[in-house]
Amino acid sequence: MIKTKAYAAQSASSPLAPHEIRRREPGPEDVQIEILYCGVCHSDLHTARNEWKNTLYPSVPGHEIVGRVVAVGKEVKGFRIGDFAGVGCMVDSCGHCASCHEGEEQYCANGFTGTYNGPVFGGENTYGGYSQSVVVKESFVLRVRHEEKNLARVAPLLCAGITTYSPLRHWGAGPGKRVGIVGLGGLGHMGVKLAHAMGAHVVLFTTSPGKVEDGKRLGADAVCISKDERQMASYANSLDFILNTVAAPHDLDAFLSLLKRDGTMTLVGAPAEPHPSPTVFNLIFKRRQLAGSLIGGIRETQEMLDFCAEHGIGSDIEMIPMDYINTAYERMLKSDVKYRFVIDMATLK
Ligand code: NAP
Ligand code: ZN
Repeated sequence: MIKTKAYAAQSASSPLAPHEIRRREPGPEDVQIEILYCGVCHSDLHTARNEWKNTLYPSVPGHEIVGRVVAVGKEVKGFRIGDFAGVGCMVDSCGHCASCHEGEEQYCANGFTGTYNGPVFGGENTYGGYSQSVVVKESFVLRVRHEEKNLARVAPLLCAGITTYSPLRHWGAGPGKRVGIVGLGGLGHMGVKLAHAMGAHVVLFTTSPGKVEDGKRLGADAVCISKDERQMASYANSLDFILNTVAAPHDLDAFLSLLKRDGTMTLVGAPAEPHPSPTVFNLIFKRRQLAGSLIGGIRETQEMLDFCAEHGIGSDIEMIPMDYINTAYERMLKSDVKYRFVIDMATLK
């Protein structure tokens, strides 16, 4: 076993603090990665504080990992020592159900294994990227083709990038489509960049008047302050697709009414408490759909990384030292991050 320094929460109410974990020695199919950068996802906060009521402690969050390969098993074909590599939200799945066969491991019928917090249907804990290194089987390791100087901006693509890319592709964001992105946080700002790069007309919905200019800079064609009823009304029945990234319960009807006939709003935000149920009439009169989407499969994550490398897309980040993480969580709760905290893992001593 490899002794590895990490940062962990020991309970729902304790702040994250230094902690030592053990990683397995790399097996024949494993890749060992020295972690250089790890993005801070709102799911890390939900998990560290047991807001989804399923946290295994000690909890070492972090599933936006970029690093350097330092060891490979003898059957590993795609990675060599010294390569840059990424790890996202999953480190394993059953490999034989229909979803796994279709490259949609996140919907594995037997439950994928999270990079942290273990298998989704229960099992032994796993420890995430707030740590010095990680050992992952090759089939769950991503190739990173970005230049070294951009690696920190790549880390958030591993969750925020794929979680927005996958539904935008699935529901056909592209030229001629009017797409709404709700919430300009880590996921939302990637949603704006990606939908813009796919060629859609993008409308950003934000509760924060101070983010209007940023929204446009990031690629939104228009920005609507979602608390302003008059502005909201001007978008009624006008959007083909809405991607809702908000991490708190809110009124879904306000956004459903902006969809055209047959339009879809997909929820990726995962608040601890339920949203108030939308009114049926808002759905049935225009055959609107309310949907959900979970991260993305490994094949699609690689496709997204390659798309971002080709289009020069990275996350807008604020780099932080490891011991700033508890402050970062408080700031994330106040929507005070532009637009993703990324931990410089060299600061974990
Ligand atoms: P984040 O950076 O905190 O961004 C969330 C944004 O939502 C905020 O910046 C804010 O945007 C808006 N918001 C927050 N509180 C609000 C409120 N009370 N009312 C209205 N808007 C509010 O979080 P994130 O990392 O992007 O994650 C967002 C959510 O997605 C989390 O629940 C996370 O767990 C979930 N998630 C889901 C998946 C998946 O696979 N489905 C994957 C990753 C994360 P404005 O200031 O612009 O309003
Ligand atoms: Zn995440």
